[in-house]
Amino acid sequence: MGLLSGFEHFMREGESMAPYTWFRLGGEAQYFAEPSTVDELAALVKRVTQEGLPLRILAGGSNVLVREEGVPGVVVHLAAPAFCQINVKKPTLTAGAGAKLGHVLTVAAREGLAGLEPLTGIPGTIGGALHSNACTHGGDIGQWTSAVTLLTADGQIVSRMRDDLQFAYRQSNLDDAIILDARFELSPEDPQELTKRMQKLWITKKAHQPVGGQHTGCVFKDPPGGSAGRLIEAAGLKGARHGKAEVSDRDANFIEVEPGATSDDVLHLIDHLREQVSRRLGMTLETALEVW
Ligand SMILES: Cc1cc2nc3c(=O)[nH]c(=O)nc-3n(C[C@H](O)[C@H](O)[C@H](O)COP(=O)(O)OP(=O)(O)OC[C@H]3O[C@@H](n4cnc5c(N)ncnc54)[C@H](O)[C@@H]3O)c2cc1C
Repeated sequence: MGLLSGFEHFMREGESMAPYTWFRLGGEAQYFAEPSTVDELAALVKRVTQEGLPLRILAGGSNVLVREEGVPGVVVHLAAPAFCQINVKKPTLTAGAGAKLGHVLTVAAREGLAGLEPLTGIPGTIGGALHSNACTHGGDIGQWTSAVTLLTADGQIVSRMRDDLQFAYRQSNLDDAIILDARFELSPEDPQELTKRMQKLWITKKAHQPVGGQHTGCVFKDPPGGSAGRLIEAAGLKGARHGKAEVSDRDANFIEVEPGATSDDVLHLIDHLREQVSRRLGMTLETALEVW
């Protein structure tokens, strides 16, 4: 039996990954699947595990750079409505892994539920945000998360409760399974106040980061107590470029790409920034961006 057998209605071979990532770069996924139900996803995961192929989950694609060679194995895109539901039972909000973070924040504000609003302006989905504990200086998604439903590699659905969840700066213990949904315990607050606060946060984020359009990515983790962007700037690298990839003039921790850029342009520029910051300032930068 071939890998596609029985899955042809939601799976295909050789799909270009560029349209699915914020950089809009990179080669093809060997197999690309968009299941529309949890049952389809579970059956696919079991088959892929049996075949011993690598499997990756792609959500909003805002923290992934795909290499020009493409991605071997199976890339699963969780975007069907079944994975994007948002339900509120105050003060609890439950969201599917594929729900857009921005949409969840809007629903929370409308319902007068505070907590997640410091994440305003972060692109991507609930699944992506939980996987690497999306954060700003105002807080992180992990601190409001009370339970997560996961699908394991053998197709089992399990719940992980608060005591079994671990979140740290840009990481979590949710990288061993597929996140299906999560529950957040939030605090009641006046919806209008909350909306105003989010508008202010959005304006600040927009003024300092290239959030307006795509063709960009946030590259490094901030070192403890510092800012990767400020280190890159201090090393005189703002505006540095390789091919069609350039360090953003808004925040030096972002790389922006022009039409005609390749993933190799971005990878060369990342290496150059890391090397020069180390040589000139003696600081080691660690990437937050995942390279597939
Ligand atoms: C303009 C811009 C601004 C940004 N600002 C911030 C910021 O302020 N703070 C911050 O923390 N990050 C920031 N980021 C990085 C990025 O937006 C976050 O990491 C975001 O949470 C990624 O979500 P995503 O849905 O796009 O995930 P993707 O990029 O699609 O995936 C990221 C990782 O999560 C995994 N993943 C996704 N969904 C699931 C799932 N359901 N189950 C298991 N694994 C899953 C993927 O396999 C991958 O390993 C920014 C990025 C950009 C481009």
